[in-house]
Amino acid sequence: MSEEQSPIDMRSDTVTRPNDAMREAARDAPVGDDVYREDPTVNDLESRVADLLGFEAALYVPSGTMGNQIAARVHTERGQEAIVERESHVYKWELAGFAQHSQLQVRPVEGDERGVVSPAQVHDAYVEADGHRPGTGLLTLENTHNSKGGSAIAPPAIDTVADAAHDLGVPVHLDGARLANAAVAHDAPLHRFTHEVDSTMMCLSKGLGAPVGSMLAGSESFVDDARRVRKLLGGGMRQAGMIAAPGLLALENVERLAEDHENAELLAAGLEDVPGVTPFQPETNIVLAATDDPAESFLEECAAVGVLGVPFDDHLVRFVTHWDVSRADVETALDRLRER
Ligand SMILES: *Cc1c(COP(=O)(O)O)cnc(C)c1O
Repeated sequence: MSEEQSPIDMRSDTVTRPNDAMREAARDAPVGDDVYREDPTVNDLESRVADLLGFEAALYVPSGTMGNQIAARVHTERGQEAIVERESHVYKWELAGFAQHSQLQVRPVEGDERGVVSPAQVHDAYVEADGHRPGTGLLTLENTHNSKGGSAIAPPAIDTVADAAHDLGVPVHLDGARLANAAVAHDAPLHRFTHEVDSTMMCLSKGLGAPVGSMLAGSESFVDDARRVRKLLGGGMRQAGMIAAPGLLALENVERLAEDHENAELLAAGLEDVPGVTPFQPETNIVLAATDDPAESFLEECAAVGVLGVPFDDHLVRFVTHWDVSRADVETALDRLRER
């Protein structure tokens, strides 16, 4: 890699650096002790996100993982089952947290090729508590679905599967780490995706560009309980307005995600002409591609010419577009990959 070839980092949309406006907002944020609920910036962020997501209340949490784990803990009782999609983040990438923090048994079900779980699958996976069986205490959904290449699941598909769970008395948590990407893809407001779910987590630190933090939203009583669990997990923060202030600015970046989606399309189209790799058509900002060689060695070749992605399976790689990757960067990345 020559000197002018600084790497184009598409490993994740979490690698973005805060811009000057975010840094200034952090410096100037009015703050207080958020454990006493005296941080005006955090309070402002929580009430704005509650409105955006269509819930009574919201809680600022350090990470998406903590948000999901708190939700599971609040919705369930020890020893119950949680129905999860087989490729979902809560199941694959959170260190078996449902078992560790909430003593849940997970029951994975295989969604369709876009990660959509059907009402019939929920009925099949449901177990009623009795003298032998634990009982189902939670259904989790994911939108956009990361492992399925950022598929943006339409609101009605969320509504119907959530209704099926509610018919069985099972609460529903939506892992909306990239819900804003789904909202842009469907040209629908964020709250349209949460009508029938009981809680939602959304990351500020991914495509929206904040340096830190995620939001967990639900009813007033859910969030009261969530606040206690956040404290239990060590997530009670003090002058958190310093990191919440950039989060407030991140809320203005929802529409901008459309650029990332266009860049992802451009990348996927261009990868068609790159030897050794077969892209899948993206729905949002995530491009999956099958590789002829093992994913690791393909990615080593990419890194050698200054293009970074991550392995997703033995012969599958992922590239993610974000606000530090311009259209020109995508074109440069494609030139480098073609010439490698
Ligand atoms: C990134 C991600 C999370 C976790 O967020 P962190 O802030 O990295 O803990 C949860 N779910 C999905 C779908 C994600 O992509």
